[in-house]
Amino acid sequence: MIIFIHKKAVLLMFTGLIFVGISWGAYNFALHPHMHIWKNQKVVITDVATSEKMVALTFDDGPHPDYTPLILDVLKKYDAKGTFFVLGSRCEKYPDIIKRMAKEGHEVGNHSYSHRNFSKKHSVDTMFEEIHRTDDIILRLAGQKSPLIRPPGGFLSDAFIARIKNEKRTIAYWSYIQDTKDWKGKKAEAIAGHIVKNIKPGQIIILHDGADTGMETARAVNLIADRLTRAGYQLVTVSELIKSGNK
Ligand code: ZN
Repeated sequence: MIIFIHKKAVLLMFTGLIFVGISWGAYNFALHPHMHIWKNQKVVITDVATSEKMVALTFDDGPHPDYTPLILDVLKKYDAKGTFFVLGSRCEKYPDIIKRMAKEGHEVGNHSYSHRNFSKKHSVDTMFEEIHRTDDIILRLAGQKSPLIRPPGGFLSDAFIARIKNEKRTIAYWSYIQDTKDWKGKKAEAIAGHIVKNIKPGQIIILHDGADTGMETARAVNLIADRLTRAGYQLVTVSELIKSGNK
């Protein structure tokens, strides 16, 4: 009987390990089969190896007229800096929010002009037209030219990466384990709880200020900033995090 239970436990453990292995493999493959190469070349960054107790909060798809200012208020309260991957089209609609981001020391990264699906349907030229158009808008409003690009939906291809290298830009991806998919309508406590539980120095944490779910995200940022600063973490921009990386 004891042997039977033991065998069952071992079997269960193996099944678990295989499942985790397959899921992890599937996630990586879903991103792109060359992901590991691009990460080694530091063209795509998901985490930074650092001995400093620092992480970067990042916000996609904004600016949003209601949620982004709430998040900026929270960051200010905790003396935290964030990185906003903005859409050029939304910057044109809400220029004052971009100006405020810059004034308060945040980084403004590029998330394309229209959140067009950067899939195979569009040429690399079309994608870069969107990127350059947004670069100009960010420069005009924020006075910044961040090297950081986060393609819509995280879409990457060999041709796109070749152009990224050519233009000496960097793809700011995110720490997979910290992707809570807040945009799917999770509650603030669930988002914050997951992130705080899994926190490690050097992580790039993806959140969405521009989605309809931005109110819960703003509440989550309040919880995250409170708990992480208490735990001794500094919340810095992605570029600052990269700079703090072990050489
Ligand atoms: Zn997006």
